[in-house]
Amino acid sequence: MSARSMPVKADERRLPGRVAVGDRFHRLVVIGLIPDRKNPKALCLCDCGNTATPQRGSLKNGRAKSCGCIRIEEFIRQRAAQPTLPPMEAHRRRAACSDRWHKANRDKARAASRKHYLLHKAAVKSHHHARRARLKGATGGHFDRAVEQRLFAMQLGKCAVCGIRLKKTGHHVDHVTPISKGGRHENKNLQLLCPSCNLSKGAKDPLTFMQLRGYLL
Ligand SMILES: [Zn+2]
Ligand SMILES: [Zn+2]
Repeated sequence: MSARSMPVKADERRLPGRVAVGDRFHRLVVIGLIPDRKNPKALCLCDCGNTATPQRGSLKNGRAKSCGCIRIEEFIRQRAAQPTLPPMEAHRRRAACSDRWHKANRDKARAASRKHYLLHKAAVKSHHHARRARLKGATGGHFDRAVEQRLFAMQLGKCAVCGIRLKKTGHHVDHVTPISKGGRHENKNLQLLCPSCNLSKGAKDPLTFMQLRGYLL
């Protein structure tokens, strides 16, 4: 049923002081009357194209001026008038807010991060690995989250140095050339080591390390 075919009672059409079809109230034009003993409303077409059903009393006393679009426009104007914060200040405020939430909801936060870790183990680990590398000053070339699984397959599940069988979860992702020696955090500078090889390798130059281990030259 279109708006114009709304049933309109004859007695409501042109009573003095009443709202009638065709009347305009600011942006609203009455296109139908909705009879209701207690709360008579009007079906209106707003200049913006929306329809609205304000109470007729609100039309008459000027409270209903639009479908709501005036208020929305006002909100958008106010938003636009607010100066935008410099990115770092905006970041600082968001971080402070998040900080407050975490302090007030320690248990919730811990449970959420645990759940996220369990769901996205590989991604979380590679994210932290990349972050540690960045903090050490590494520049990154191509690096992706699946590299750990690929390396595991390429190395046939064995430590790249001693050849011991790696545990699915117990291996270390190592920078062949350490970050401190100018190595980059990228796929081609990574290898999987068993924990003991990785810990003894530390930040040694890869050639020196292999020589110490009795490999090469
Ligand atoms: Zn409107
Ligand atoms: Zn090893």
